[in-house]
Amino acid sequence: MSRIEEKLLFEKDHPGRVGASVPPCDVPEVSPQAAFGALARKAAPAMLPEMSEVDVVRHFTRLSTYNYAVDVGLYPLGSCTMKYNPKLNEEVARLEGFARLHPMQPESTVQGALELMDTLQKALCAISGMDACSLQPAAGAQGEFTGVQLIRAYLESKGDARKIILIPDSAHGTNPASAAFSGYAVEQVQSGPDGCVDVAALKARMGPDVAGIMLTVPNTLGIFEKNIVEICRVVHAGGGQVYVDGANLNAMMGLARPGDWGADVMHINLHKTFTTPHGGGGPGSGPVVCKAHLEPFLPRPVVVKRDGRYAWDWDRPKSIGKVHGFFGNFLINVRALCYIETMGGEGLKRASELAVLNANYLRARLAGDLQLGFDGPTLHEVVFCDKGLPNGVTTMDLAKRLIDYGFHPPTVYFPLIVHGAIMIEPTETEPVEELDRFVDAVKAILKEAAENPELVKSAPHTAYRRRLDDVAAARSPKLTYKP
Ligand SMILES: *Cc1c(COP(=O)(O)O)cnc(C)c1O
Repeated sequence: MSRIEEKLLFEKDHPGRVGASVPPCDVPEVSPQAAFGALARKAAPAMLPEMSEVDVVRHFTRLSTYNYAVDVGLYPLGSCTMKYNPKLNEEVARLEGFARLHPMQPESTVQGALELMDTLQKALCAISGMDACSLQPAAGAQGEFTGVQLIRAYLESKGDARKIILIPDSAHGTNPASAAFSGYAVEQVQSGPDGCVDVAALKARMGPDVAGIMLTVPNTLGIFEKNIVEICRVVHAGGGQVYVDGANLNAMMGLARPGDWGADVMHINLHKTFTTPHGGGGPGSGPVVCKAHLEPFLPRPVVVKRDGRYAWDWDRPKSIGKVHGFFGNFLINVRALCYIETMGGEGLKRASELAVLNANYLRARLAGDLQLGFDGPTLHEVVFCDKGLPNGVTTMDLAKRLIDYGFHPPTVYFPLIVHGAIMIEPTETEPVEELDRFVDAVKAILKEAAENPELVKSAPHTAYRRRLDDVAAARSPKLTYKP
């Protein structure tokens, strides 16, 4: 089917067209100003497009077919955990008692919701080996910001303000951004040839100016930080705090707990590991879990249970304040708890085992065709480099050509420490047939690259848009529509 160049709704405005049939008005019409006086904010109605129902339905349905989704096929975006989101979660999140809550309802009318949040917090603490939790942050990066603020508040409460956060070169890009946004100077720690932090270099650098370290575990190479216990010891001995970026928890549920290694605080991405839909900018949820010594500083309010009733505790003098308008993205909490309860502890552990197995299956099947970024065992994702791609074909070309084969491309050119990185995270929810289909596609593209490189370099050929100007999109985004 040839595709229509879909216009914006505002460009489809057709004055007089309506989406509903209502009987003619049989009482005198009154303007908002006449009815509400100064309370009426707008003198004129909002400039909304006037359209029929069929116009609107076709607009959105057509747009939905221009997109790729995890419900369509493999979405192997590394470090993003694009796993399948069970439909049961959606059904539960749509129950009226959850979906129609208002955040300003009195506590006595939302006891079930508060209990749900309390239960989810306890589950996340159990999974991560931590003592306390806040569900307020709306995304992983905001969780990082919150966690670093906890570290800052804790150190300052002891009269030990420090200036620097150490971050390995294999960390997720949001880590340095969050540390800098929290007012810290960021210093890089080098990885060794095994892709892990160089502990000797870390030891040498630790000092009274270092507030802590932010570690992505497993790191963005999919490699487990094997010296993590020693790293926590070194940082604590130097008076610092350990932040673990737990967005990659999908590799470790039921297998390893950051709290047990000595980590002080971490965030968890419910929209990755705990199967709530993501992509397209949200909504997400990035709860922060921490050890008891950081608990007094958590964002307020916190859920408490007193005399058998749940309540919000606002009386938190050491709290860093609020990081979200209300209490977090509640319906994401509902989905995440639904998933945790359906899986159970054993099920979560099995999910992590299968996520690791699937990544290693792809690694084993593709290792003869693509070169690995780093040797050594990987967990939930596998990173290849662009070495050996024939005829000047690049990582980007390979990614774009995968679109023609019906796949979302993997993450590319990240992590930065791998040249032309191709970062693949299949997740546990992919059946082996889909993994094989992906392997076949990569092999076919490599054959094309050898025999007919132009075909690959000019891909995608079937997509609605071909190659976008990524740089212009990032540097000068146009976020508003002007008629
Ligand atoms: C996705 C991710 C983040 C950021 O999470 P957002 O919800 O996108 O803000 C941080 N760290 C790692 C390792 C991630 O994979």
